[in-house]
Parts: sequence; C-alpha cells; structure tokens
Amino acid sequence: MIAPYPLRKIEAILSKEGFKTWVVSPEHISQVLKREGAYVVGVSTHDPLGIEPVSLKLSMIFGGGETWTAKFFRELIEKLSNLKKFISFKILVGGPGAWQLINDSRYDSIDVIFIGEAERTLPRIIEKIISGDEIPRVIRGETPSIEEIPPIINPARLGEVQITRGCPRGCWFCSVTPETFRSFPLEIIKREIEINLKHGIRRVEFLTDDLLLYGSEKLRVNHDALVKLFTETMRMGAEGIWFPHISAAPVRESPKTIKAISEIAGYNRDRVVSPVVGLETGSVKILKKYMRAKVYPWRPEEWRDMIIDATIIMNDNYIYPCYTMTIGYPEETDQDVEESIKLVESIIDHGFKAWIFPLPLVPIATTRIRDYPLPTIERLPSRYWDLLYISWRYNLRITRELIPNLTAGVKSRLVKKIISHMIDKVFSSIEWIFKELKETKGLRSLEFSTINLDNISGLIRSIYWLIKISFRRT
Ligand code: SF4
Repeated sequence: MIAPYPLRKIEAILSKEGFKTWVVSPEHISQVLKREGAYVVGVSTHDPLGIEPVSLKLSMIFGGGETWTAKFFRELIEKLSNLKKFISFKILVGGPGAWQLINDSRYDSIDVIFIGEAERTLPRIIEKIISGDEIPRVIRGETPSIEEIPPIINPARLGEVQITRGCPRGCWFCSVTPETFRSFPLEIIKREIEINLKHGIRRVEFLTDDLLLYGSEKLRVNHDALVKLFTETMRMGAEGIWFPHISAAPVRESPKTIKAISEIAGYNRDRVVSPVVGLETGSVKILKKYMRAKVYPWRPEEWRDMIIDATIIMNDNYIYPCYTMTIGYPEETDQDVEESIKLVESIIDHGFKAWIFPLPLVPIATTRIRDYPLPTIERLPSRYWDLLYISWRYNLRITRELIPNLTAGVKSRLVKKIISHMIDKVFSSIEWIFKELKETKGLRSLEFSTINLDNISGLIRSIYWLIKISFRRT
C-alpha cells in the first residue's frame, strides 16, 4: 500500500521504538484487526468535521451540510466503534485536523486526541496504553529536535518527502508555529527519496510550508542550499520535483533562486508547478495586525507591489501560483475587502497565470485566533461575494486558457475536443453560480442545500439540475 507521508512517518517512529506497526487503509481495517488484533488503532485526519477552510467555503457556498471529509471520517469511526464491541483496542486520532475534535462531543468512542508532533510523545503514550495506565483524552506532543525525527522506511504517496517543518512567520490564523521551524539535513531527505525511488515512485514532492525556507536563517533565502537540494534530487534519477507551498516575499527577494530551481527541475509550458501561495488580503491594516512577518523583508505598505513583482518572477519561471486569501476578521470592513478586490484586480490586469481563492477565516484551535467564531454567511463582509465572483471568473478564464497545456499529453484530437467542450460547458455553469451568489450576497447558496449525492434519487436529481443549468445562458 502507498500511504500518505504522515502515516509513513508514524510508522517509522513507532518501528524505531520497537512497536509492531501496520499501515492499513480504512477498507482493510476490519480484516487486519480480526486477524492480528491491536492495542491501538491510530487515525490520521486532515478534516474530520469538514471545517478546514476549503471544505468550509465549499460547503458554505453550496448550502451547508456534511462534507465528504466529515462523512468518511464519521463512517470510519463508526466502523471502529462497532469493532470495539468485539475486539479490545483504543482509538487514537491525530494529524493536522485533530484540533477540530478537542471540543466536539459527538465522538465519545475516540479515546485519545493527539495534537502536534509525534516523535517524542507518541511512543510514551502507546506504552502507557499498553500498560493500561490512565491518560488524558487530549495529548499535546512535544517538539522534537531534528535528530529525533527518523526517516520513513516505506514509500510515501506521490513521492512525498518532508524538507522543512514549521514556519517562523507566525501568522495569527495559522497552526504552523514559529518556534518549531527546522530544515531537514540533505542526507535524510536523500534517504527518503531513495526509499520512494526504490519502489518505482520517480516524482518527488517536497513537503514544506514554504519551499524558500529550506536551509534559511532569520527568514533570508539560502540560495546555495536550495540549488544543492534540487541538483542532488535530480541527480538521483527523479523525473521531476513539485512542491505545495511557497511564499511571495522570498520570491521577490531572490529571483535568481527561482530561475535556478526552475531550470534544474526542467519546468516549461507543459510542465508547470502550481503551489499554494498566501495572498491573504489587500488591506494593510489586516496585514499589519495578523501577518506582519509574511511580508518580511519588505514593509507591509509594499505588499501589493511585492505580490505583483513576485508573480512576474514566478510566471517567468513556469510557477503558476494558487493564491489563497483569508477573509472575515472581526475588524475587517467592506473597505478592507475593497482593498483586497483592488489587489486581485491588479493580478487580473496583468493577465498573470494564477488562480485566486478567497477563503473564510477559520479559527483553528491551536492558533492565536482560536476564540474567534466560525464564519457564517451573515458574518462575512458583504463585499466578500464580489471578491469571490471576480476571483472565480478569473480562475475559470485562466483554466480555459491553459487547456492546451493541461491536455498536452492527450493524443486524440477528438478526445481533446470533447474535454475542451465539457470544460467550457461546466465552467459556464460554475460562473453562473458565482454570479448568483454575488447578486444575492450568498443567500442563493441555501437553495443548493437540497442537493444530495448519497442516494440514487438525489444523484439523478443533481444530474438533471446540472444538465439544466449547463444549457442556461450566462
Ligand atoms: S507564512 Fe504561511 S505557513 Fe508561515 S505562518 Fe504564515 S500562513 Fe503559516
């Protein structure tokens, strides 16, 4: 089984401490438990209640209801709770979304909620569970030193390899804490790449909260360390390197680094990389209060120019950013959202290859804004819906423009034509939905709440509805 990297890391940590460990998919858990038994079943979750920013936004604009992430988590916990009636074991839930369960009372069959890093604390907790000791329901993992973090011992999905952990920028809304920033030594990274390559995974995905933090001190770009990292990875036989996150400020600080890594990884028109980049806001007031270090080494007043310059540098080197924005701070007015709209319009005026996703602010329980309320349609500034519409209209335009690149690998002209036609039709419908949301300040979303894809009649009704709107003129 090719598992996600975090599960492989837990497997490496527990194996190093002498625990017998299986990594199992939810479909096979009953079989393995009945055959092998276990003291503990650990579940790694990203979004157990469906309130992670992207899920929350999508469920909000489509009328609320349970997201699929929440549904799959609920089904897995129900399955484990049933198994617990016949087999004795404890359920431990960890991972980046475990914070959602801290104050939630619906899952009383979960014995332990594990928050934070596992290396130091998890083996001790497992030990206690095996000995039958009492332990608190919520456990917070201590931060390990880099030497305490073992490399994975089995391949990770998509060739994932962690290169940094933590982020020193300390944005208030982010659960990645400043005091935990570390870069992994190149030998450890290479050992993990080697494991993936040995199992036939030739792509490499560098896991990091900001690629340009690799090897850095005091937030300054370490050009030599990054060039060495990319060069040695390609030399090992990787077919390409991708990465999920990069920050705009260091891109502007070191354009030569972006050029160098793009050339080494061989990015071009048909091989682009689209990392998530925090665009967050156009309001200097919001920026100064909630994410002051995000703009470092520049001044908050330079945020707009910095974003424009960084996007030019990225696009010139085939990096097409997915910009995410956080909207809904308590003191954020329509005037602040107006500043965000102006920033997005600057991106649009330049015709950059970029996507923009304005997300509602979610108060993650491990952040400085944990006591803020969850976003609702009523609480969002009313101009949010204009920002959402402008951004999505541009996203659809850019995706349409990039269809020839996205379908570069498709040989048949007929198949290409069909894909292009379908995308065109579906996009027209999506654009219409966002226009309706803008005109009704989000209230149109309540009509979508009747969509149900969990049974045949709901599915047929939804297909009928999609066909109907696909013939509607925008
Ligand atoms: S820069 Fe990104 S990863 Fe770092 S603290 Fe801010 S939001 Fe989190």
